[in-house]
Amino acid sequence: MKVNLFLTDVAKGYGPDIRAVYFHGREQGPLGAVFRFKGEAAFRIEIDAARLECVHQKLFVFFHELGHIVLGHCNTGNILKNGPEHLARGREDEANTWALNEMGSLDSGGRVKPGDAHCVGCTVKATGIQIKSGLLEGQSGPFTCNRGQ
Ligand SMILES: [Zn+2]
Ligand SMILES: [Zn+2]
Repeated sequence: MKVNLFLTDVAKGYGPDIRAVYFHGREQGPLGAVFRFKGEAAFRIEIDAARLECVHQKLFVFFHELGHIVLGHCNTGNILKNGPEHLARGREDEANTWALNEMGSLDSGGRVKPGDAHCVGCTVKATGIQIKSGLLEGQSGPFTCNRGQ
């Protein structure tokens, strides 16, 4: 597991309680997660960069996890859990929308901008994120990542 200095710097700009962002390659489990350092209030974000195909996907997962912290989803308990209660509260939707907005991918109506549709679509497809229906409305796929083409 390696600290990503750039994303750590970005994350710290959102909150002094975020200490580090790590890239790892476990190749199983969630693509991204938020943890607290043992016995401390400080957060860390872990991203399984090895399973993500392009920079946009990595940035999206980063902003999604950061969103969970900024939106206060991680204030109770040690680890953000993807249990039914968590999902029922629409927190994944909230984090996704926050991330896309922060990345400048949404227009004033809250829909994905045409110029960003390909990369957002690529991310939706690769990460299996449950994107709010309608966000990509009117945009035509396929949204396969173009890397190496
Ligand atoms: Zn999430
Ligand atoms: Zn891509």
